[in-house]
Amino acid sequence: MIARVTLEIALRKEFDYFIPPELADQVDVGSRVQVPFGARKVLGCVTGLAEESAHARLKPILKVIGAQTLVTPKILKLARWIGEYYCCAPETALKSVLPEAVRHEQANWRERLYVRALPVNGELPKLPKRQKEVWRILEERRELPLSELLALAKTTAATVRGLEDKGLVAIAPEISERDPYARDHILPSQTLPLNPAQSSALAAIITSMDGGKSKVQSPKSKVQSPLQSRVQSLESKVQSPAERPSGTTPQAPVTEHATRNTQHVSPPSTFLLHGVTGSGKTEVYLQAIAHALEQGKGAIVLVPEISLTPQTVERFKARFSSGPLQTLVAVLHSHLSAGERHDEWHKIRQGRARIAIGARSAIFAPVEPLGLIVVDEEHEHSYKQEEAPRYHARDVAIVRGQMEGAVVVLGSATPSLESYYNCGKGKYTLLQLPERADDKKLPVVRVVDMRQTVRPGKAVPLFSPQLKEAIARRVEQKEQVILFLNRRGYSSSLQCPLCGYVAECPNCSVSLTYHRHEQKLCCHICAHTAPVPAVCPNAKCRNPAIRYAGVGTQKVEATLAKLFPQARTVRMDSDVLKRKEDYRRILGDFRVGKIDILVGTQMIAKGLHFPNVTLVGIIYADLALHQPDFRAGERTFQLLTQVAGRAGRGDIEGEVFVQAFTPFHPAIQFARRHDFEGFYQQEMEFREQLKYPPAGRIALLTLKGRNEEKVKFSADYLKRELEKAVGDIKGLVLAGPAPAPLLRAETYYRYQIMLRAQRMAALSQRLALLIRSLTLPEDVTLAVDIDPVDLA
Ligand SMILES: [Zn+2]
Ligand SMILES: [Zn+2]
Repeated sequence: MIARVTLEIALRKEFDYFIPPELADQVDVGSRVQVPFGARKVLGCVTGLAEESAHARLKPILKVIGAQTLVTPKILKLARWIGEYYCCAPETALKSVLPEAVRHEQANWRERLYVRALPVNGELPKLPKRQKEVWRILEERRELPLSELLALAKTTAATVRGLEDKGLVAIAPEISERDPYARDHILPSQTLPLNPAQSSALAAIITSMDGGKSKVQSPKSKVQSPLQSRVQSLESKVQSPAERPSGTTPQAPVTEHATRNTQHVSPPSTFLLHGVTGSGKTEVYLQAIAHALEQGKGAIVLVPEISLTPQTVERFKARFSSGPLQTLVAVLHSHLSAGERHDEWHKIRQGRARIAIGARSAIFAPVEPLGLIVVDEEHEHSYKQEEAPRYHARDVAIVRGQMEGAVVVLGSATPSLESYYNCGKGKYTLLQLPERADDKKLPVVRVVDMRQTVRPGKAVPLFSPQLKEAIARRVEQKEQVILFLNRRGYSSSLQCPLCGYVAECPNCSVSLTYHRHEQKLCCHICAHTAPVPAVCPNAKCRNPAIRYAGVGTQKVEATLAKLFPQARTVRMDSDVLKRKEDYRRILGDFRVGKIDILVGTQMIAKGLHFPNVTLVGIIYADLALHQPDFRAGERTFQLLTQVAGRAGRGDIEGEVFVQAFTPFHPAIQFARRHDFEGFYQQEMEFREQLKYPPAGRIALLTLKGRNEEKVKFSADYLKRELEKAVGDIKGLVLAGPAPAPLLRAETYYRYQIMLRAQRMAALSQRLALLIRSLTLPEDVTLAVDIDPVDLA
């Protein structure tokens, strides 16, 4: 027999190897093997078996790594899809589907020595004092790890060996599972009653899991009609619809068929659960997972890395820690030790853990059979991997769901435009939870026009009088305040603080990037440049102080200390997040009320639930709004909605202040009214005009190197090659090359070329071909990002 092997070194081909008879019963598709390659021994994965090979004198497989096949055929198929769709080498895709801790040849279960008390025949012999103490512990515990016993008895191994010699105990190695949550006491939780909206959402999901046609009644019917009509009007303009990834390869023919011919095939099995903050999405997930378990299937739950807190994990563990549906819940994320990750992964592979919960890469968890995939906070950009393979876990989830017949539930209070658009297209089914589960009201959002606070010749103030007064009042009432500053206050665009004017690219409608060193404005999509104006270009304004510097959370903290010396203020930004313990301690202190005002960046916008927070302030909403990215408006809307969702989770009604220099921007105004649908309609018009996703698809090509001339030269060469290779694709827009925004302290130069097309399938296939034939200077690297999420 012959094995086809994909090697883990940078090669795009499969190689044939001979399977020696002694390994015949161990080698299967998916086995990890060590093979000779030239003079080296390398690792690879068996991707196929064959009777014969076109090559003579094949070398033999040297050994098989791991007792169980690690990459199951289903996961292998998924890895191949990733390689094709995201234009990366198959071995790169293959690497991403197994955690490092599992791929590693030496990775294994941890064995520890256990001491077990043996039955005593007749009288217990007289024991020396130390041995007696050890025996007393063993009588009580019966069995425990040697190291623990020694610590408890404060003695040495020799004492225990003494008992072993007397035939009283047995010492033997046993597998000891590393459980990262062993120290947490998790109390079982009961199924909670659902409100009508939750019930109908769950019913639709369950119907689909049972293979039936889902009928969703209110509240969907009343909300979806404007969306439907909107999409129809879009379709009349768009020639071919933006597809979701699954529609792009021959491996998912079902989708293509399903969307064309909805009457004869099963209903869409992807749901978008759009629920306002606090609407009880998690309870819907939990009950849907319970249904999967009842069907004898498992589930994968994806949550953004930052929301993967012990509290989140506990909610899932608590529900399935006992009762008839009891199962292990395995957790996969980057904060675990390599050993813990190894054990958690194998608990899933062995089928003992039927539920896998984790960040992005948990989408590859070998849960089998798979009944349900939940992607919580589906709009989160952290689902996109920023290095090759640049996959989006939400999109991989949808493809995997289709390949394995699993239902996929995407959940969010602020869905991505992509997902909402797919609902309008009938590819996903929209489920709505329009009210908070506990009948709490959504907070009142007040937008403060910061232009009113600016005095010519004076520094731009951090706090408006309105916000200052509100903080003073809440602190005095012993309520808590969260203040939010985006991205540590660094502004990459140019905005006039007096009138709100922002310099924008006339071609791309994104903010121009302000290059401080060269004193110019530059569009990093199409390379349009403009001089920095000496005075505000707004004829009614002419403010000479248009260039103002950003502020950081430290400055906010310092100002607060001056304004409210009696309040206990703590800052939380990415510096603090690096120290994991500080992050937990601060949140803990805030929870118990040791902190009055919490100042932070993005990280405090996510899923945290503090009942005593009644005031949330967003210091400069414009900092998010004028990032040089076409998604800046969407991101601001999401951010304001999520941040506002932190207020009023308890008994006292919440209040939100949004300070902005462009207070009438639609992203701010729709967020103020909690109006997602309105925002969607308005934003889609802009996306449609410029063929930005979801109205079109994007591939972003970035060249990077230390020598700017070489990078620029390579970018121009690449553009010419692209024009030849893909220029004939209908509706293609080729923008750039343009210098990418320079990160501070960066020593590399980057140039980007953006391709926009109606569909991705043809484009990504031809891109892959072109890239393989391209010769670039050695010190210039090319990165291809299909469906990029971050352009700024
Ligand atoms: Zn101005
Ligand atoms: Zn431009």
